[in-house]
Amino acid sequence: MQIAWIGTGIMGAPMARRLLRAGHQVTAFNRTRARAQALAADGAAVADSPAQAARAAEVVFTMVPDTPDVEQVVDQIAPVLKQGTLVIDMSTIAPASARRLAQRVAEKKADFLDAPVSGGEPGAIEGTLTIMVGGEREAFERARPLLDQLGQRITYMGGAGSGQMTKLVNQIAVAVNLEAAVEAMLLATRGGLDPALVLEAIGAGAAGSWQLNNLGPKIIARDYRPGFLIKLLRKDLRLLNEAARETTTPLPALSLVTALLEAASAQGHDADGTQALAAVLAAMAGAR
Ligand code: NAP
Repeated sequence: MQIAWIGTGIMGAPMARRLLRAGHQVTAFNRTRARAQALAADGAAVADSPAQAARAAEVVFTMVPDTPDVEQVVDQIAPVLKQGTLVIDMSTIAPASARRLAQRVAEKKADFLDAPVSGGEPGAIEGTLTIMVGGEREAFERARPLLDQLGQRITYMGGAGSGQMTKLVNQIAVAVNLEAAVEAMLLATRGGLDPALVLEAIGAGAAGSWQLNNLGPKIIARDYRPGFLIKLLRKDLRLLNEAARETTTPLPALSLVTALLEAASAQGHDADGTQALAAVLAAMAGAR
């Protein structure tokens, strides 16, 4: 298929690469051109604007940071959308915005799916992402063969915005599990244990989690290179706080993790991976 891929960052680049390797024709656009250019070695064409990338596309993917970024990209591609073009946003954004974008794209007789993902950079590279999809079911069925190249568990959640609401449910569990993993590693060290041995001992038991097993080794090594940026988790917590308010849902642990992530930002960790939360807890404990 003719595919446009907008946003070739940590997640977008390996996802677009999987579609190229499956034999699709991909035209990539990224704000910083060099990051899209890296896909040229895999056969991608590189566009100068989102509209240029989308002009001949049957399917347009977006994978950019935040709600205003997706809205800006949709503004830019709207003039070139044709009847039947499928726009699939895989970023994590506000559910209400996804609903508005679906309407906007429908005015062009094109289709919009909100299809945010979970599984991080390893899932993007290996094609094992969890994908939660909102929009028209018929559009979902058309998208399915492409989504199968990117993810392992792909679930149709219902109408526009329901993919994003599901992602927020995912993110409250992620954020609280991250905090749990960080506290576990801190106590392991303060309790005089070898934290790597602790991970080996408990990782496959009831305490095991994606956060503990994937980020635990990085916490031990103080390797804060980003898979998922602190800045982007703060964005997700902002969306979660909005959702909690709109639905009158008490999420007490969300307040705690939000405060700790603000501390991480204040301490200069925005461009680090989420495992850098360990540095905040270590500082609270008076440890290095
Ligand atoms: P990232 O590495 O920061 O990549 C975002 C890309 O979007 C960058 O290449 C950036 O360009 C581009 N961009 C930013 N603003 C733009 C705009 N206004 N118009 C066009 N392009 C723009 O972020 P990521 O980790 O890939 O995350 C992308 C999305 O996936 C986010 O919504 C995030 O919450 C979600 N997500 C991430 C993970 C993860 O583990 N990383 C997991 C699940 C979901 P530049 O190169 O110029 O900065």
